[in-house]
Amino acid sequence: MPTADTDAPALGDDLRAFVDASPSPSHAVAELARRLTAAGFTELAETDSWAPAPGGRHFVVRHGSLIAFRVGTGSPAETGMRLVGAHTDSPTFKVRPHSDVRQAGYRLVGVEPYGGGLWHTWLDRELTVAGRLVLRGGTTALVRLPGAPLRLPSLAIHLDRSVREGLTLDPQQHLVPVWDRDLGSEPGLVEALAAEVGVGAGDVVGHDLVLADTQPAARAGADGTWIAAPRLDNQACCHSGLLALLAAPAGARTQALVCNDHEEVGSGSMSGARGSFLEDVVQRLATAGDPGDPQAVHRALARSVLVSADMAHAVHPTRSERHEPAHRPQLGGGPVLKVNANQAYATDAASGGWFTERCEEAGVPVQTFVTRADLPCGSTIGPLTATRLGVPTVDVGAPMLAMHSCRELASALDVPLMIGALTACLAD
Ligand SMILES: [Zn+2]
Repeated sequence: MPTADTDAPALGDDLRAFVDASPSPSHAVAELARRLTAAGFTELAETDSWAPAPGGRHFVVRHGSLIAFRVGTGSPAETGMRLVGAHTDSPTFKVRPHSDVRQAGYRLVGVEPYGGGLWHTWLDRELTVAGRLVLRGGTTALVRLPGAPLRLPSLAIHLDRSVREGLTLDPQQHLVPVWDRDLGSEPGLVEALAAEVGVGAGDVVGHDLVLADTQPAARAGADGTWIAAPRLDNQACCHSGLLALLAAPAGARTQALVCNDHEEVGSGSMSGARGSFLEDVVQRLATAGDPGDPQAVHRALARSVLVSADMAHAVHPTRSERHEPAHRPQLGGGPVLKVNANQAYATDAASGGWFTERCEEAGVPVQTFVTRADLPCGSTIGPLTATRLGVPTVDVGAPMLAMHSCRELASALDVPLMIGALTACLAD
């Protein structure tokens, strides 16, 4: 079991490496798959028929989502499963189908906002484009423009002094990254990306591309234990969930990690938490364990627990009045149990108590987040998955500042604590 004192620096550095390798959900899934494969997990295709044997370690990919699992020695209908959920996507900008924009002597890249980002934090940063190209015949290729070729430049204060009263950004007009001067003959974005993967532009029939901050994740804070990085929400929980699955001892129960795409836009897609991905995999695992029982999947879900891991709000150093006074998580203080009276979080007394007990067993402290009564509450994949599957669910997360900024802040001290908590949940 990792400990905060001894393992935090190395695990924090490993999280930074994970984030740097994952500029898009497609890259995050590839990085998860790479690490799972290195640890002995093998990939299964949804198009194949599979009935994994006890002890089997596998993963399944559906576009920007991935489910990895270790099959227990007991049947899921008899033992239940232990599930950890997270999401691979983060607020960003998605490249439009026709992305070549030319105006004012510049070439720009046409994008539209994805999710609810703090868009002003994307100004004046070193940006690139990353994601996947779909090639003729249906194959896909991961791609990332090298270097930091894109930028969203601020308007100089001399040209608009009203910015002192507040910055207003029209996404259609103002949030269009500039790429180059327009001299009339340069290749377009798709041509440049096609050249990166060694194909012609005519071979690219589709793309899922997002803007990404290129500055490597950094150590921060007085003693270097904080992590300043893009996409910590929610790649940090994908990372903790992965390391927990790899660390958890095999047992009677099947253990699984689901990392869904599209959380930031409501999870309504074939690979999102409102889609059928997790249900499909659970169904295959439950019926493989009890081939003759038509109720195997329902029995399995009734005995299972899903730990929905998504980042949580640490108390802000200069805006603490925006937090509920009795519920103010601290950076480095350990996993945060998220509770909401209106079910924006799926935590209830039973699932929250179960999580707290697992943390106690692991020697991990637990903090609690409740939003102020006069503020709306964010949500996550927990309630969506609980609603779809009827599985007991607890919403938790690691504390962080600046959620949905282009550069977010978390603590390396929380990485081993989250891994310890999730490992204890999977090993239960
Ligand atoms: Zn999130």
